[in-house]
Amino acid sequence: MDQQEKIQILKDLVNINSTNGNEEEVADYLKKLLTDHGIDSEKVIYAEKRASLVSEVGDKNAGKVLGFSGHMDVVSAGDESKWTFPPFQATEKDGKIYGRGATDMKSGLAALVIAMIELKEEKTPLNGKIKLLATVGEEIGELGAEQLTSKGYADDLDGLIIGEPSGYHIVYAHKGAMNYTLKSYGKNAHSSMPELGINAIDNLLKFYNAVENQVAKMSKENPILGKFIHNVTVISGGEQVNSIPEAAELQGNIRTIPEENNETVRKIFKEILEKLNQEKDVHLELTWDYDKQPVFSDRESTLIKIAEKVAKAQIGQDIPLLGISGGTDAAEFTKSKKEFPVIIFGPGNETPHQIDENVDTDNYLEMVDVYKEIAKQFLN
Ligand SMILES: [Zn+2]
Repeated sequence: MDQQEKIQILKDLVNINSTNGNEEEVADYLKKLLTDHGIDSEKVIYAEKRASLVSEVGDKNAGKVLGFSGHMDVVSAGDESKWTFPPFQATEKDGKIYGRGATDMKSGLAALVIAMIELKEEKTPLNGKIKLLATVGEEIGELGAEQLTSKGYADDLDGLIIGEPSGYHIVYAHKGAMNYTLKSYGKNAHSSMPELGINAIDNLLKFYNAVENQVAKMSKENPILGKFIHNVTVISGGEQVNSIPEAAELQGNIRTIPEENNETVRKIFKEILEKLNQEKDVHLELTWDYDKQPVFSDRESTLIKIAEKVAKAQIGQDIPLLGISGGTDAAEFTKSKKEFPVIIFGPGNETPHQIDENVDTDNYLEMVDVYKEIAKQFLN
């Protein structure tokens, strides 16, 4: 495929407005592109106008499986009048392509798909297959990755590349994230006769203090990701100053590491809750609103070794390994049956989610070749 065609594909993708939805139009575009090059694909419907896309190239009956993944949704363009170029009308200028999703992450997605097409067209022998997992709803909770994983689409992976913008780094670790809501139920009474009521705020604070106590003991540290983090970020309760409050609520946000992981946290919270609920007049209810696990790949794994070597050779500079705080679809895909290494490695710069988001055209194009070479070496 010539360079101009690759650039046009990225522009076409940026021109599709898939702000937190409408990913089916992106999936249809990619499906047609793949079909035009003799590659089958399958849409996995998530909701109206929302569909993930799965496709494979290579030997489907032998060897390893390398996942190629990217999300098709983008975040809101915000105040479009502030953009130098319209966010959904990709514009090429001075070696960059501008538009919402140029960096995060339609360039990575396009590069992965083009790499698959070129490997197929060049009839590169692969001992195994590449599996494309293009997802919906990454930006609002990894919805597509969750659906694909629960349906078993990630069960055969031996390695996964997520083409999120990483600049000239290979990310191999990120923290997990959890959100929860804790509700405390009490009983109204006049504040002059508190013995007739149950103070929901008092009971809420019992939980708050117990959790803070436990968290202070969670001191393990990950060499790359750092510490486990817990913060209560929202709190509300009571109605008026001379009434014993009958309800109170708090919300918390947690960042997990492999050493203090989501399972440990759920267990600790459950124990605290059960213990407090045995006390007289305590009625607490806990809901996990968000539960994404940390990702931490073995830096000695074949995939990471190959990626490091290929990136250095193709790009002509050292590409350091890195851990980050933010999550990706890997937080869901790694819940599949097998354990496998993940790298987050894709074209892009410091402009995701910003006005005038852009990608360097050269960076986008070189990543097509990087992906091809990593796949060739991983599946050889
Ligand atoms: Zn992204």
